[in-house]
Amino acid sequence: MIPAPARAKVVVIGAGQAGLSVAYYLRRFELVADEDFVVLDRAPGAGGAWQHRWSSLRLGTAHRVNDLPGMAELGLSFDTADRDLPAKEVVADYYGRFEQHYDLRVHRPVDVRSVGNEGADLVVRYEDLSPKPVEELKARGLFGRRRKSFEAPANQRAPQHEIVTSFLVNATGTWGSPFVPFYPGMGEFAGRHLHTSDYIEAEDFRDQHIVVVGGGTSAIGFMLELENVAAGLTWVSRRPVDWIDRQELDLEGASAAVAMQDEAARSGRALPSIVSGTGVPKSRRIAAGIERGLLVARPMFDRIEADRVVWDGDESGMARADAIIWATGFRPELRHLAPLRLREKAGGVTVGQGAAWSDPRVFLAGYGPQASTIGANRAGRMIARQIMAML
Ligand code: FAD
Repeated sequence: MIPAPARAKVVVIGAGQAGLSVAYYLRRFELVADEDFVVLDRAPGAGGAWQHRWSSLRLGTAHRVNDLPGMAELGLSFDTADRDLPAKEVVADYYGRFEQHYDLRVHRPVDVRSVGNEGADLVVRYEDLSPKPVEELKARGLFGRRRKSFEAPANQRAPQHEIVTSFLVNATGTWGSPFVPFYPGMGEFAGRHLHTSDYIEAEDFRDQHIVVVGGGTSAIGFMLELENVAAGLTWVSRRPVDWIDRQELDLEGASAAVAMQDEAARSGRALPSIVSGTGVPKSRRIAAGIERGLLVARPMFDRIEADRVVWDGDESGMARADAIIWATGFRPELRHLAPLRLREKAGGVTVGQGAAWSDPRVFLAGYGPQASTIGANRAGRMIARQIMAML
């Protein structure tokens, strides 16, 4: 890892679409010295959360992936990228080339543990993960995400480093903060609980009985992939799936979802799920899946037993399960910001135009209305401009 300076005007945490977009604009606005801005990222390589996604995911399978600002200068575009290659490889490759071309000097792999106050400044404390082999990172839950229960005891942790800064851009996304709702019997289940973020490939489930939970595009993608692999497949959704009679999301549908996110962020509420605002478009592949009875979601089960899920009060109310895949979404990864006390009683952080309203030194890129690749691009320009105006 390139040593990070002990002081920088701006620290950006996260080198996904949002963090890279902010870094690009800061560079363009002529912050060029090492001490001007520092980008820190936990992942072993370029690609943000995309590098951790499952191998069968292709660009365009879910939604459109927008190019980073300035990517055209490199002759790269996701629109013309190879659709036969895993999205994780294409995005990692393009982001890596982007970082090099614009000399964004991302410091990785480093895990930011906390951000606190130091007088009028902020102090960012991070652990350098570079000497640790991937297997150890995986065992500790640090490969791609951090789970509290996997954390090493304090006396076994590597020493922390610090950067003092005037401005913080938090662009940590959601991948590291998977959400799984609680259902009675979860602890008694003898099979495997997996979240979207644990899914690797359909073959892992050959000849097994699988229950997929969730009403969004990830759940639907898993159902389609597992159809000819699993011995039994059950789809359940906590809410009726909001199908829309279009092949793709149109601008109106997407902007309604963005408006919902924006309203929640501006009022400090917990963010609603994106799919609750957009609905799920019926692509040809999905429409065919509905037609043949695969993509018909049952209502949520009531409880889980050792080898099944159960609907109470329904005679035939059970489905066998060797594994339950929870495609139930993510939450913003903000634990390391806890010392700044940004979270409101309503459950979220009040954010408008990417700025945390309770602390003018702090920006949240990729949060709420910016939580898409197009939103993350807009965040970059908007946040970099505000910082430049204050520097
Ligand atoms: P990320 O890409 O998650 O980047 C965050 C970075 O922060 C990561 O590299 C991580 O290592 C780092 N980080 C996190 N915490 C720390 C820490 N404490 N210390 C150091 N580093 C840290 N959007 C679209 O527009 N089109 C799509 O087709 C699409 N498909 C999607 C499919 C799935 C399955 C999912 C979950 C999301 C999808 N999205 C899509 C949403 C999209 O991925 C995001 O909006 C966007 O890519 C996220 O960018 P980001 O920079 O905010 O976060």
